[in-house]
Amino acid sequence: MPPLIPLIDGHLDLAWNALSFDRDQTLTVAQLREREGRLVHSNSGQSGAPGARGGWGRCTTSLPELRNAGIGICLATILSRAKPSAPPPALQLRTDLDHASQDIAFAVGRGQLSYYNLLESRGWVRMIRDVETLDEMWTVWADGPEAAASLYKDAPGIPSGRPPIGYVLSMEGSDPIPDPSYAQDWWDNGLRVASLAHYGQSAYAFGTGGDGPVTPRGYELIKEFDRLGMILDLTHTAHTAFFQALDSFSGEVLASHNNCQALVPGDRQYTDEQVKAIIARGGVIGAVLDAWMLAPGWKIGTTTPQSPGAPTLKHVVDHIDRVCQLAGNVKHAAIGSDLDGGFGTEQTPGDLDTIADLQKLAGLLEARGYSQADVRAIFHGNWLALLRRGLPRRADSASGNDRGNTGGASAGANGMIRRSAQPGRSAVQAESER
Ligand SMILES: [Zn+2]
Repeated sequence: MPPLIPLIDGHLDLAWNALSFDRDQTLTVAQLREREGRLVHSNSGQSGAPGARGGWGRCTTSLPELRNAGIGICLATILSRAKPSAPPPALQLRTDLDHASQDIAFAVGRGQLSYYNLLESRGWVRMIRDVETLDEMWTVWADGPEAAASLYKDAPGIPSGRPPIGYVLSMEGSDPIPDPSYAQDWWDNGLRVASLAHYGQSAYAFGTGGDGPVTPRGYELIKEFDRLGMILDLTHTAHTAFFQALDSFSGEVLASHNNCQALVPGDRQYTDEQVKAIIARGGVIGAVLDAWMLAPGWKIGTTTPQSPGAPTLKHVVDHIDRVCQLAGNVKHAAIGSDLDGGFGTEQTPGDLDTIADLQKLAGLLEARGYSQADVRAIFHGNWLALLRRGLPRRADSASGNDRGNTGGASAGANGMIRRSAQPGRSAVQAESER
């Protein structure tokens, strides 16, 4: 097997999976599938067998599997929506995203943050709030999982050889920010990337599934994001709102998990005009692996990865290639897998079993004419360069009270690294020059 190429994943809903699907992210994928295969859905009566909701019995991701995938750094989300206008469902399920108010969405989001904080106190993850922590975590992971494990071999408080996954806290739709003035509070708790909306109308903008503008409160929020130094995620922002947000926001922008409309019709994908607009701002676009965003004609719940024309990992390369062709270089394409974003292998490329199969993209890209340096840019270099530009320096990020940080876990985890490895080596710098 070729050596793993370090990967940064731009979009994983790890805490939402845990809180809404009862998915203990510290278990292996095999353990999770075994457990979830026995769950029965209260609405449909379906078990974790094929067709069950949320990829039960078919999940692709967990913290141990991220290590197997060579993913040492990711963007991990808060995901919770307010949809007071939606008629209440006959049966409210914990898996439902829509809450009656932004106040409740806020509290649910805080629950998700609590999960990340607790994982951090146990050494499973480490929050990346600033460039310095990004550099430290990249130094840990740049040479692959085995080298990372050796750095943590005898680290106190961390099981031997189990290095923490670094994560940048992001928010998919800003409903959990109950008022623009609360953006500071989330920033103080580590939030560094946020999008305005998810699906439909939100308080701040129109999201996927129609078109609409940034709302007056949305403009206030964008102003706050600018003041704080938040990175704006433009995935899920409706076409009109997308360009309004771009025009009114002056900071770094990205699209955490977004494919191309030229290949798959529908407003969940970007038009070429949108791709070019992100490129013009120096942004990065993460290719997403949800099957219906990869190939045209996928019907959720009907089409399967075995259906004729169903996508494979080659389709992911098609979307990455489209971004690169529009840019004229490889600096703006990356991966934002969204694997386990409420689905499992019933809705992923047929040649993907777990998130570790993202490594297959390297060979597929090379077969398409991409050099090894290009592959490394797409796998991690482009996200690193953007985060390095967008994250604050440590001295500037400490404006908050560190409420979200449980018991100095970051400092502890940092101190645990055996620092024989290249202190001061600026791996990120080197990567970002590509
Ligand atoms: Zn999404």
